[in-house]
Amino acid sequence: MSNQSIQLNDELYHYLLDASLRESEVLKQLRQHTAGMRGSVMQIAPEQGQFMALLVQILGAKKTLEVGVYTGYSALCVAAVLPEDGRMIACDINEETTAVAKEFWQKAGVAEKIDLRLAPGAETLNELIETGEQGSFDFAFIDADKTGYHNYYEQCLVLLRPGGLIAVDNVLWTGSVLNNENPSEDTQALQAFNCFVKDDQRVDLSMLPVGDGLTLLRKK
Ligand code: SAM
Ligand code: CA
Repeated sequence: MSNQSIQLNDELYHYLLDASLRESEVLKQLRQHTAGMRGSVMQIAPEQGQFMALLVQILGAKKTLEVGVYTGYSALCVAAVLPEDGRMIACDINEETTAVAKEFWQKAGVAEKIDLRLAPGAETLNELIETGEQGSFDFAFIDADKTGYHNYYEQCLVLLRPGGLIAVDNVLWTGSVLNNENPSEDTQALQAFNCFVKDDQRVDLSMLPVGDGLTLLRKK
């Protein structure tokens, strides 16, 4: 026994899914559809989606942000638990993959809640700040280009209300954050980001070994 987080082998991971996953039919179809696409490993794991949905429910979130949509799985997890008048601003630059997202959001009946902005995430977030939406969002999920993370984090912090939550994906980067010899640009960005937020007194935080590493940051 150890008090370190448990290592999951395939059998135990499948037990976890069997024992707890309540994935809707549309989410399952989206996952199956995406599995055949280029970049399918970018999609968050289903238990992570369910965890994020639970966080959003605990927060009583109404207004949310997502930076990095791909085929829309994480957005659908969150939008599905938003109230009828809830809203998500979803940022991505890829017309092709987000066309899949839109199709499945429609199928799931949440398309009305999601405002997809096809533009660089930093531009969209800046626009929201400039149009007076600062301090008004309850939840943000950052999962786009890793070199942009720090900037998205600063922008989301401005857009969040006190007590709002930012979830940042891939913070363990399949273990590459340990590479100090010849880290890629993305790895360096994640290393620097992790290092920065640890001492950022504007937030409370927890880094979790969920999926590829998920850091939760609560704006004070
Ligand atoms: N959250 C998604 C899911 O769970 O399925 C996965 C997102 S995927 C890891 C990253 C996405 O970020 C890609 O769809 C990519 O097009 C998008 N992206 C890359 N650079 C971007 C930028 N500058 N602004 C907004 N989105 C960007
Ligand atoms: Ca990710």
